[in-house]
Amino acid sequence: MAIPERILMGPGPSTVPDRVRRAMAAPTIGHLDPRFIEILEETSGMLRELFGTENPLTFPVSATGMGGMECVVANLLEPGDQAIVCVNGLFGERMVDLMERYGVRVHRLDKEWGGVFSVEEIEAEVHRHPKAKALGIVHAETSTGAHQPLEGVARMLHEEGMLLIADVVTSLGGHEVKIDEWHVDAAYSATQKCLSCPPGLSPVTFSPAAVEVMERRKTRPVSWYFDVAMLREYYEGSSRRAYHHTPPVNLIYALREALAIILEEGLDARIARHAAAHRRLRAGLEEIGLDYLPEHSLHTLNCVRIPEGADDAGVRAAMLDSYGIEIGGGLGPLSGKVWRIGLMGHSATQANVDLVLAALVDCLE
Ligand SMILES: *Cc1c(COP(=O)(O)O)cnc(C)c1O
Repeated sequence: MAIPERILMGPGPSTVPDRVRRAMAAPTIGHLDPRFIEILEETSGMLRELFGTENPLTFPVSATGMGGMECVVANLLEPGDQAIVCVNGLFGERMVDLMERYGVRVHRLDKEWGGVFSVEEIEAEVHRHPKAKALGIVHAETSTGAHQPLEGVARMLHEEGMLLIADVVTSLGGHEVKIDEWHVDAAYSATQKCLSCPPGLSPVTFSPAAVEVMERRKTRPVSWYFDVAMLREYYEGSSRRAYHHTPPVNLIYALREALAIILEEGLDARIARHAAAHRRLRAGLEEIGLDYLPEHSLHTLNCVRIPEGADDAGVRAAMLDSYGIEIGGGLGPLSGKVWRIGLMGHSATQANVDLVLAALVDCLE
């Protein structure tokens, strides 16, 4: 089975370091084996460091990022509840769709794709819907590259007794994420973006207030697989770990290794590396006449407008064929209008930035 080596500079997955791939090849052991439980605890401990949280309930859901979103929604909201969702791109859209499927009455706060919300705009919406139980927002909107600040968002929500749900899929491990300092009640991420681990796990964290809301539920979550009351018996259990499902043991080895690599580099140094790569890429892209779509751009995802007359699919195919570089196209209303260049985790290097710029110039000709 010949799989080519690629330089992954799209919206995810990002390039997986050899150390992580080797960790996955270790012997599969039982999910109740004391050694595996240790590995699981080390993994959750390191996830807490990345999330910037003391939340005991922090673990990798056996699913991709969308599964993390579903786990949070399924457990914090009940049919008939109201929630506010900030929609400025595809992932906000998906949060609305998901909540509605769980019987939630959703109030949308819309913004043009690429924009971000001010605390004042969010507060005004909260005033309009004081009965809402939670507000969902995307910290790093991968479909547009917009970087939504989360500082100050929770204050007023908490005064109204609402929970803050944040999608940190494309920020965790690449941008500052401070769950406790920002008072986020539930957040989910994914392994294949800035953690540079293969796809398949979704790290989640729940605040004590979120846990209380789950414990006070009147109905059981519609989803059996994502029922945190049962998942906790395994992931949070101290001495006794109750079987719920068989977690992807080898993927958890990979995540443990990916997190160890991150903490060896140091979280601050890693965030600075992403910032430096972004500045270099931005300078290069603007020099060749490519403009950024969002005003507040992520470092980890660079969304630029496709120049007039350029062949979207043709350029991306040439980048892949001639250089082995993957970049992303646009989604939804941005399809054919933008390119999305990821600088995530292991992929966010000066060498990759210089290569992608040279390749783009060549393929645009
Ligand atoms: C990638 C992504 C997801 C979904 O993750 P999957 O692993 O593809 O299921 C959710 N939210 C954001 C912001 C993402 O970038």
